[in-house]
Amino acid sequence: MKSALITGITGQDGAYLAKFLLDKGYKVFGTYRRLSTPNFWRLFAVDVYDKVTLIPAELIDSASLTEALKVSEPDEVYHLAAQSFVGASFEQPVGTGQVTGIGVARLLEAIRSFDPKIKTYQASTSELYGNNKKEAQNEETTFSPASPYSAAKLYGYWMTRIYREGYKMFCSNGILFNHESPIRGLEFVTRKITNAVSRISLGLQKKLVLGNLDAKRDWGYAPDYVEGMHMILQHHEPEDFVFATGEAHSVRDFVEKAFAVVDLDWHKYVETDQRCKRPLDVNHLCGDYSKAKEHLGWKPKVKFDELVKIMTKADVERWTRWQKGEVFPWDAPNHLDELHILSRALKA
Ligand code: NAP
Ligand code: GDP
Repeated sequence: MKSALITGITGQDGAYLAKFLLDKGYKVFGTYRRLSTPNFWRLFAVDVYDKVTLIPAELIDSASLTEALKVSEPDEVYHLAAQSFVGASFEQPVGTGQVTGIGVARLLEAIRSFDPKIKTYQASTSELYGNNKKEAQNEETTFSPASPYSAAKLYGYWMTRIYREGYKMFCSNGILFNHESPIRGLEFVTRKITNAVSRISLGLQKKLVLGNLDAKRDWGYAPDYVEGMHMILQHHEPEDFVFATGEAHSVRDFVEKAFAVVDLDWHKYVETDQRCKRPLDVNHLCGDYSKAKEHLGWKPKVKFDELVKIMTKADVERWTRWQKGEVFPWDAPNHLDELHILSRALKA
């Protein structure tokens, strides 16, 4: 039986990947953070909590990463843990560098010392392309990061290649375009929208406040993408691959489609506010996944319209259950309204 270690198993991708690997017959270990409030709701949502072994680990603490390797003795490591939110990286640029960037070096070094034959997947991102002017981005496109998050991820991307080339380790980057689902974090724009649309449709909220509506993203469905992560590590050699849908849609398009799912006109409910905008934004991301299609046989199954429907319907169903008094593991009832947060001085 193969054994896999997933760093960041409590996140969106960690939960779906755990389910996917368990179904493939893997023994699955996952790292989690010792937080003051437990954060296992996604593992319950995809029904894997009882089937995985949890190991406490923190990316700024090398000893905890070494211990996680000793406990799990993995054939494959999927390095998903990170401070993953671009917005927060502007609030905590140094911390994001430590966790999302140097955390990769800590983990690769721990793997090199423990067993350099372990295969490693690094969660790289389309944010690396930043405001590169190309219409569609692939493995050959120049990177031009536009946030502390993507600068940190660029370091992780290169460290992965350096360990591959320097030490002949099997380390590969998946350059994943945005992928979403009903268990996406509420700070990301897609889930922020579907959660608000659901609440508005049920009379629980009056308006939705957003930032830049013009930004375009290539949004796919997270379960499709975790399958690709596994394919990358089964490839005959370590290489980097883009996963995307090949379609770009604006935040405005997403809003319009999500309100349409509940038969409402978005113009009546959506406002914009400076506080939801970033000091620097990425305007257009659209991926070319031809290499993954040709070499791995990977392609996305769920495209934009279906994704918006899946996410909106899931949130409507959850808020409806909540209104009936049902209690179940879920993030939204305790989520803070972002407009209560003041992370930058408003004076210039
Ligand atoms: P996510 O839901 O934010 O999950 C991130 C995970 O990292 C969580 O388990 C989190 O633990 C853990 N973590 C955060 N800081 C940590 C630290 N200091 N030490 C140890 N663990 C820490 O992210 P995701 O959407 O699943 O994404 C997975 C990976 O893919 C991330 O590296 C992300 O940057 C990258 N990526 C995501 C996308 C996307 O569209 N989703 C696209 C490209 C790349 P807690 O649960 O305790 O917070
Ligand atoms: P990202 O692509 O990893 O930054 O994913 P996000 O979901 O956080 O943001 C996607 C795009 O939506 C970015 O261009 C944001 O500036 C834009 N956006 C517009 N309004 C909002 C908002 O209220 N919250 C977030 N998170 N993003 C917003």
